[in-house]
Amino acid sequence: MMSKTESVFFKKYALIIIAVILPLMILSFLWFSSNKQKQVHNWLWTAARILSESENIVDYGEFARGFKDVRVTVVCRDGVVLADNRANAKKMDCHANRPEFLQAQETGFGEDIRRSQTTGKKTIYVMTKLKNGKFARLAQSTELTADFLVWLFAPILFLGLCLAVLMYAYAKNKQVERMRREFVANVSHELKTPLTSIKGFAELTATGLITKVDTVKDYQGKIVRQSDRLLAMINDILHLSKIESTKPKELVAVDTRAAAEQVKESLKLFADDKNITIQVIGGGSIIAEPEPIYHLIYNLAENGIKYGKNGGVVKILLDGKKITVADDGIGIPEEDIERVFERFYRVDKARSPERGGTGLGLAIVKHTVQKYNGTVTLKSGEGNGTQVYIEFKR
Ligand code: ADP
Repeated sequence: MMSKTESVFFKKYALIIIAVILPLMILSFLWFSSNKQKQVHNWLWTAARILSESENIVDYGEFARGFKDVRVTVVCRDGVVLADNRANAKKMDCHANRPEFLQAQETGFGEDIRRSQTTGKKTIYVMTKLKNGKFARLAQSTELTADFLVWLFAPILFLGLCLAVLMYAYAKNKQVERMRREFVANVSHELKTPLTSIKGFAELTATGLITKVDTVKDYQGKIVRQSDRLLAMINDILHLSKIESTKPKELVAVDTRAAAEQVKESLKLFADDKNITIQVIGGGSIIAEPEPIYHLIYNLAENGIKYGKNGGVVKILLDGKKITVADDGIGIPEEDIERVFERFYRVDKARSPERGGTGLGLAIVKHTVQKYNGTVTLKSGEGNGTQVYIEFKR
């Protein structure tokens, strides 16, 4: 699947690169084509003029074969071909009605540009009358050869490639910068909400005007809950930043069964609250670091409970390098599935904090999976539970 930077790149910059490279290729092709035509024309005429002055051509076959890059045909007065360095003269038809021959008979020189019957290429023919009354015709194609086109287009394509790399790096940089700005704005907003509540309840109790013990206790309870939320969020932000900013260090074979059992134990009270059963099935091992893998399974199982139905089941299925966490809870609407891995994205903004959500759990899962070269896919449907599939390579 294409990453966000790649899709931005293709939408914005690839078109610009194509718009620069393609006209450049067409223009250079046209320029070199017309230039070659002029060059061939001048060269053939110079050679024809020199030939028209030459005396003593005895062996026409040898004379014709002496030319390497140019086709030479020697024709006698009535148009019969005497020699040709590219074809068998005996098998060639009479050239009496060729335009360049008719002109050369009248003025001493003749020229025609047409597609050659022998090579099928656009060719310039220049004919001259020799001193001995015979005619010599010089012919050369004006088309650019495949070799030449490779040499012509290779630097242009290389230029395009360099441009693409530079623009891709620029797009990526811009994307990272935008994401950083958005993240800072989101973090500030997310932290502000519980902090505002804490400040509000703390101020109310500090006035001394609220004397009812129950109300004071209620406010203090709210302060504790909001502080817990704040702490959870800061922990998740730090966790995410650690995953992103550090490279894998000590890779070991992580026993996924042991990690899942540990997660089950840690989440037992939370699961019991909703009468949810956590099942750990199968086993496997992954070459990674133990703590991030534990966190990954924890986040997914915790979501399974948070968004699971009372009395439901959260399954942690382990199979070699694969980890699947499935629940039978509220599920995720189809239009939100693509976005739930984004930082702070919540399907139900109002209810996620109530459930203790920070909006960072799946972002942490995604970045952990990427860090150890794995893939993650999520399948869900509203009311039909959620399954998260993870597969590692090693
Ligand atoms: P949160 O801390 O809010 O749970 P996550 O990043 O873990 O944040 O998940 C993002 C959003 O995706 C959640 O707010 C929730 O709406 C949805 N979600 C995640 N896992 C599940 C699940 N197992 N079932 C239903 N919805 C889920």
